[in-house]
Amino acid sequence: MHEFGHFVLCGLLYDEGVTNITVAYTDAAFQRIKDGDKPSPSSQGAYINEGFADFFAGQVVGGTNYFVPNNSDFGLGPVFYCNGARSTCTNGAACGCIGTQATCQGVGCCAASGSGTSQTYSASLNTTTCMGQRVVCSGVNCLCTGDPALPSECLDQNSVPSTTSFNANVARVATLLHDAFDGQAQRGIADVPNDADLWTRVPGSSPAQLKFSSLGYGNLGDEDVRVPGSCMNDVLEKWDDNGNLLRESSFLKGLTQTALLPGCGAHSWCQTCEMLSLHRAGRPVNATPRQDFDRCVQDDQISDWLGPPPVETRRLLSASCQACPASEVTDDGIKCHPLVCVPPTPFRVLRGGTPLGQPPIYDCVATCPPPLQPVGGECLLDIP
Ligand SMILES: [Zn+2]
Repeated sequence: MHEFGHFVLCGLLYDEGVTNITVAYTDAAFQRIKDGDKPSPSSQGAYINEGFADFFAGQVVGGTNYFVPNNSDFGLGPVFYCNGARSTCTNGAACGCIGTQATCQGVGCCAASGSGTSQTYSASLNTTTCMGQRVVCSGVNCLCTGDPALPSECLDQNSVPSTTSFNANVARVATLLHDAFDGQAQRGIADVPNDADLWTRVPGSSPAQLKFSSLGYGNLGDEDVRVPGSCMNDVLEKWDDNGNLLRESSFLKGLTQTALLPGCGAHSWCQTCEMLSLHRAGRPVNATPRQDFDRCVQDDQISDWLGPPPVETRRLLSASCQACPASEVTDDGIKCHPLVCVPPTPFRVLRGGTPLGQPPIYDCVATCPPPLQPVGGECLLDIP
């Protein structure tokens, strides 16, 4: 099935132009074989091609060829079949949820209003129920993201770039593609991307015997991007806009820009940033949305793929991906608070150049720019 994934990528490339076979795919295939069985970890064309094929295999047979996902077992091929079994409960009381909290996944509960495909944040739930940063609901999943105890299973593992391992980069591309398309909250016959969680292990079997899993475990809910399967064409279209070879600057940029498209989920800058940040090295397990946003601005690659945030990150709220109210800022990307200026920049000053009709934005400064003067911690025009 992995090999058929290569065929699918060829077909998608062909749809964008026949020369993509002679140029882009030939380049990727040559990179894969020119160093024998051990391609260089920096062979982007080769690992993007293999990562796509493993993502495809995950979708169709629930297994991968190049890397060993968490909670997977070896089978013929060789294919490593995912067979996770994260505790999944759908009954509120059985999961220890209270009141109107209806769904959970063993680690968190959230309000019934968070069902369907909406995402909610509740500060009270956060403090009373969750150890992590947020509560995320997606109909079947309800859990506390950022909880370090939360296991990531199979393709939901968040692989990051490697300078030493080709296969680790295959894993990164495959798991990033998986994160972009998973979380559709459908199981069984629905014709939508799945969570690559088709199998579960027959209890006690050794070597592992697998059976169809009626419960999902392949979407941790740690990001909220759900690109429709029909938008795979758009990934290649956007790839075509950004280069002629399979490279991160063209292919992963194409994936990023597809997630933002109105017809592909219209995901916000914030949602897309959080997904990309998960696949970068050095992300704290309990990273706040604000930390993710700052990483997306400072990371040269992500900022090239994603573009600038809708407003400066110190005013950007994760839930709405819009700015805090006028004159307020946020430390965590979750809650806003008034801007408080402390030494060494103790004075609050109205930012110049704010367009008419827009809420005022304030900055903290060390000294008031003349002719303004400090009056009670604020830089004001002191008219005697
Ligand atoms: Zn392959």
